[in-house]
Amino acid sequence: MIALDIGGTKTSVFFSEKEHLIEFEKKYEDKIKEVNKKQKFCVVSTFFRESREAFDEFFSFLRSLDGEIISTFPGIIRMEKVEGKWKFRLYSKRFPFLIGQYVDVSFAVNDVYAFAYHHAKKFFRDVYNRTRTLLVIQIGTGVNAIPLNYYDYKELLFLNKIIEAGHMILRQGNEECFCGRKGCAELYISGRYLEKLGNGDVHAVFRDEALKAEYYENLADYISSLTILVAPDKIVFGGSVARSLDTMLLHKMVEERFPHFRIHLNIEYEKDISRLSNIRGLVELYEKFRKKMVKE
Ligand SMILES: [Zn+2]
Repeated sequence: MIALDIGGTKTSVFFSEKEHLIEFEKKYEDKIKEVNKKQKFCVVSTFFRESREAFDEFFSFLRSLDGEIISTFPGIIRMEKVEGKWKFRLYSKRFPFLIGQYVDVSFAVNDVYAFAYHHAKKFFRDVYNRTRTLLVIQIGTGVNAIPLNYYDYKELLFLNKIIEAGHMILRQGNEECFCGRKGCAELYISGRYLEKLGNGDVHAVFRDEALKAEYYENLADYISSLTILVAPDKIVFGGSVARSLDTMLLHKMVEERFPHFRIHLNIEYEKDISRLSNIRGLVELYEKFRKKMVKE
C-alpha cells in the first residue's frame, strides 16, 4: 500500500514496502524534502499540482510500484457507488484541473477527516467519552475543523458530510477568500495569514508580542464560535501551526469570551504535531471503510 497526505505545499508519502521508498527516492530525488527510512515515508513538495500531466505522471509512477493507493486531498471529496464500486470525486481549488472528476485511487478523503479519525479512535476507546464530543481543528496552509460524536465516528457518517469550517465568516472585511466569499476565518487564522502578518515568516508572529496578540484574538474568536455551535469536551489542534500554539493561553482567552455564562467550560486541549497523524488516520479509516462499506 502507498498512503499519501497531500497538503497545499508539502505531501507526505508512506510506503508499506521499503523497496518502493528506495525506488521513489531515485525517481524524485530533486523533489524530496525529507526522508525517514525507519518509518518508511518521505516528504515531497506538492509539485504535481502544477498540471494534469504532472499529476497523471506522478500517480502512474506510484501505481507502477503498488496497485493499492490511498490518499488525503485538500478540498471536498464526494464518495459515490458506481456499479457496485466506490469512487471518489474531487472538488479542490488546489487541483483546478481535477474539479468534479474521479481520482483513480482505492480510497480518498479530506485530510482533516483522516486526522479526526485518528484522534477519535483514541478518544472513543474510553467508554466514558462515548457521550462526549471531540472537535479537531487543523491549521496549516488553510484551516478546517470537524466535530465528532461516537455515532458519527462508529458509523462513518462524517464521510458523507461536507464540512468547510475554515470558511465560516469571522470578520467584516473586503479581502476576498479563494472560495469567493469575504471575511472567512481562513483569511484571519490560516498559515497563509500568519505568513502575511510575519512578512513571509510564519514563526515571526509568535515571537512578536503585538502580532501574537492580534493572531490569538482572531483564533480565540474562531474557537468561541465553534464552541457555541458544537459544545466540545475536547479540542485537538493539528497542522503545521499547532506546533507554535499556546493552548493554555487560548483556553483562558476562550473562557473570557463567555462572561454571561460565568461557568468553567471544562474543555480539554491537546495539540498533535506529528507529521504522520494524517497518514495514520488515513490508514485506520481505510481499514474501517473496507470492513464496513465495501462489504455492504
Ligand atoms: Zn472562504
